[in-house]
Amino acid sequence: MASKLSDVSESIFTKMSRMADEVGAINLSQGFPDFEVSSELIGLVHHAMQQGFNQYAPSNGLPALREAIAETLQRDYKVPLEPDEVVVTSGATEALYATFTALIHSGDEVILFDPCYDSYDPVIRLNGGVPVHLQLKLPDFHIDWDEVESCISNKTKAIVINSPHNPTGSVLDEVDLKQLSNIAERYDLLVISDEVYHKIVFDRFIHHSVLAFEGLRNRSVAIFSFGKTFHATGWKVGYAVASSDISTEIQKVHQFLTFSVNTPLQHGLAAFLKHDHPQLGTFFQRKRDHFLSLMRNSKFEPVKGGGTYFQLLSYKEISDRDEADMADWLTKIHGVAAIPISAFYNGGEENSLLRFCFAKNDDTLAQAAEQLCKV
Ligand code: PMP
Ligand code: GLN
Repeated sequence: MASKLSDVSESIFTKMSRMADEVGAINLSQGFPDFEVSSELIGLVHHAMQQGFNQYAPSNGLPALREAIAETLQRDYKVPLEPDEVVVTSGATEALYATFTALIHSGDEVILFDPCYDSYDPVIRLNGGVPVHLQLKLPDFHIDWDEVESCISNKTKAIVINSPHNPTGSVLDEVDLKQLSNIAERYDLLVISDEVYHKIVFDRFIHHSVLAFEGLRNRSVAIFSFGKTFHATGWKVGYAVASSDISTEIQKVHQFLTFSVNTPLQHGLAAFLKHDHPQLGTFFQRKRDHFLSLMRNSKFEPVKGGGTYFQLLSYKEISDRDEADMADWLTKIHGVAAIPISAFYNGGEENSLLRFCFAKNDDTLAQAAEQLCKV
């Protein structure tokens, strides 16, 4: 059988989490919290199940949830937003799949920035699109907008951005969004904006959503995940937000992908969104600062980031192994699993960098740091 994804194998997240399990290593590789979801949220979902909300939800999402999402985004980004512009999906993964499938036609070129999240490239190709990989520029992983403009052809259909950025933690600023807006308007491009870490920004950094820029609002899809905002990656509930002509197309694909998303979870999330929530940025910044202070006496060198719950550490002073090798060795010999950044590059790239997830209890971080300080 001819494979449609002959170059794709098991995801690096699956591989490293399995390796961590097999050798009993502390798993700072795949991005998920090791602490609990709010018991209040679990109570709301439980209540919805007991109330009998256990059958199919409306395909594009429960009205109460789409309304609550629209209200929250309006408040956060100070833009008018209608519930009909929201499609509730099975995580951001499905939102990305439905968006690319709805918008990308055979032969369309889509600009991506490496290191990039693993699902973009294969999904674009499954839809007959052509990924055009540019690279974020070290040391701070910024976008070179002149280079972007020089790569635009008459086949270019869309640009994919991801801020705050997985795996590097870099954050696009207002000037970046304005440059993007200029380019997108000038060349009539769509923008797919993966904003799953929108609530997790630190220090002086601010998250700028494409939804808040006039030139981008009607040509962009913003993608979010409750997995990140409510520490519930296993629930797989996310959403795509776009002007109603674009979200209608996304919805058409979504109805044939999954039709609808888990009903009691949507009820619980809709009610929970109405409550006050602690600042996620403050919560995770404390964890990041704690992890980095524990690592101060190690030979690893942190790369400064502005958001997400990932920290890049350079091991240049420790080894000249390649990143995949280093991740294996660290997991098996020192009992801490991390993700090699080379896995996020089309065709690989070596910078002696590993990604560590600090969405963990303080005890887990302390144990991991103690082991890493011995390397
Ligand atoms: N985009 C990025 C940048 C991510 O890091 C993730 C998952 N961690 C996703 C999309 C997928 O999110 P979900 O788990 O909601 O499918
Ligand atoms: N997004 C998560 C990460 O970056 C992993 C998601 C997955 O396992 N597919 O670690």
